Amino acid sequence: MILIFGTRGRLTVASPGDTLHHSCPTCQGDLVLKHNKVWFTLFFLPIFPINNKGSFYHCNRCDSAYKQEARQYLISPSR
Ligand SMILES: [Zn+2]
Repeated sequence: MILIFGTRGRLTVASPGDTLHHSCPTCQGDLVLKHNKVWFTLFFLPIFPINNKGSFYHCNRCDSAYKQEARQYLISPSR
């Protein structure tokens, strides 16, 4: 029997409550919090995460990315 296993990077979206609406400094689009994790794979299917490479805010409109630590600078009370 042949086992095919390995690792793969995978982006997952955090809960909907972590979305910053109209907060992208570039295009005013929505910023979605995403987690970047490395997963153990078996037959190319992700089984469980083995390493967390951090989280970041991603704009779906202009494809910009910002560190999660910049959240307080991305939230503007004037908007
Ligand atoms: Zn944007």
